Amino acid sequence: MTTTTATATAQAATPATPAARPAKTEVRQPKALPAPNSDFYEVYETLNSEELATVKQVRAFMEAKVAPVITKYWVDDAFPFELLPAVKELGIGGLGMKGYGCAGGSVALLGFVQMEIARTDPSFSTFMGVHVGLAMGSIYIDGSEEQKQKWLPPMARFEKIGCFGLTEPLVGSGASGGLLTTAKREGDTWVLNGEKRWIGNAPWCDVSIIWARDLADNQVKGFIVENKTTPGFSVEKIENKIALKVVQNGHITMKDVRVPEANRLQGGDSFRDTAKVLKMTRYAVAWMATGCAMGAYEAALKYAQERMQFGKPIGSFQLVQDLLAKMIANITASQCLITRQAQLHAEGKLTDAHAALAKAFCTAKCRETVAWARELLGGNGIVADYKAARFFADCEALYSYEGTYQMQNLIIGKAVTGFGAFV
Ligand SMILES: Cc1cc2nc3c(=O)[nH]c(=O)nc-3n(C[C@H](O)[C@H](O)[C@H](O)COP(=O)(O)OP(=O)(O)OC[C@H]3O[C@@H](n4cnc5c(N)ncnc54)[C@H](O)[C@@H]3O)c2cc1C
Repeated sequence: MTTTTATATAQAATPATPAARPAKTEVRQPKALPAPNSDFYEVYETLNSEELATVKQVRAFMEAKVAPVITKYWVDDAFPFELLPAVKELGIGGLGMKGYGCAGGSVALLGFVQMEIARTDPSFSTFMGVHVGLAMGSIYIDGSEEQKQKWLPPMARFEKIGCFGLTEPLVGSGASGGLLTTAKREGDTWVLNGEKRWIGNAPWCDVSIIWARDLADNQVKGFIVENKTTPGFSVEKIENKIALKVVQNGHITMKDVRVPEANRLQGGDSFRDTAKVLKMTRYAVAWMATGCAMGAYEAALKYAQERMQFGKPIGSFQLVQDLLAKMIANITASQCLITRQAQLHAEGKLTDAHAALAKAFCTAKCRETVAWARELLGGNGIVADYKAARFFADCEALYSYEGTYQMQNLIIGKAVTGFGAFV
């Protein structure tokens, strides 16, 4: 898909000698340069016309409404609540999920939309990833029919916003090996005790999916907690982050939080069921990381076309072109990989290792790409106003959340060798 960014024009280089200058009567036209376009292999053409229209609508929203204001929110560590009504209008709540008021559509469309959102702002795509992928996804994948009917429609309409509480202060990568947050059944009620850390949307959302270890059988179970009204549930906002600053992450404390059995995810009996949700969200993070790299590349390319040094646009220097070529190669490789990932997903063949490979590869390539973008902007690359810096910082969180690079590689390593090497 071509960008709507205005075609860049570079000022012509000043010729080195007067003799080389054009005659006074000759009018030199500004050279029209290619507009930055991170769809080098035309992967957007794999979408049908209806899907492409949705992606274009999302791009228009992100460029018109989000791009002009997001840097200020990022710098201020604040979430743009003012944009939520317009997000509701986009009709993308529950993309990839069928029924229950969800937007439906293909898993490829879900991926492209997440890539598109991250191309303008990785924080915004993370907000969507937490609410739709993790919170709604837990109910969609592990909930009973009644639970889906009750919770998914208002969440798809963004009337109730969700979060997903798995990580704890003392248990991160090792979540599958034993959570410290406990769940104790007392009749038709569960009593939750423990802490959760890093939980996106938690400081302000309505519904928390809390994963806790059942004291009776030591298995992980999921609970839907209405956090604003449940006694014993408190959230403290995590301050001073240097990445995804628009996303509000919370440190949750639960002291004798009582949840009815009706709010226990009825299809979730062990960590294997939690992992089903993580497979889907790792699928999406690979798209988001690719979008993050696209945004950084396009910003860097535009800068390279406009920034003059030694009397020439820096984009005309060989070493700068080398950086840009490496960036677009990383992006193109990631796009091709995730497009195939979407085919595997649609065919019901996506494994944990497939999703882990996509997440690990795309976030690592994103990390390389955003660093080159930052480098290309020189000093301006560390100033948030020039965009590249925001993508550069945000990528660090994409690289580590939803399972770190090392944990993804251990999942791949187990699949290819047959040996589990987690501990
Ligand atoms: C911005 C952000 C948003 C997040 N949002 C959420 C959320 O909404 N919900 C949620 O539940 N969690 C969330 N997380 C938590 C995230 O998933 C964890 O940070 C991540 O899983 C890593 O856990 P940890 O930070 O405790 O690191 P640790 O597990 O302590 O790991 C530290 C380092 O040790 C390495 N390591 C650990 N074990 C091994 C091993 N066996 N072999 C090799 N290396 C190993 C890791 O790869 C890493 O480099 C979020 C995190 C961030 C930063």
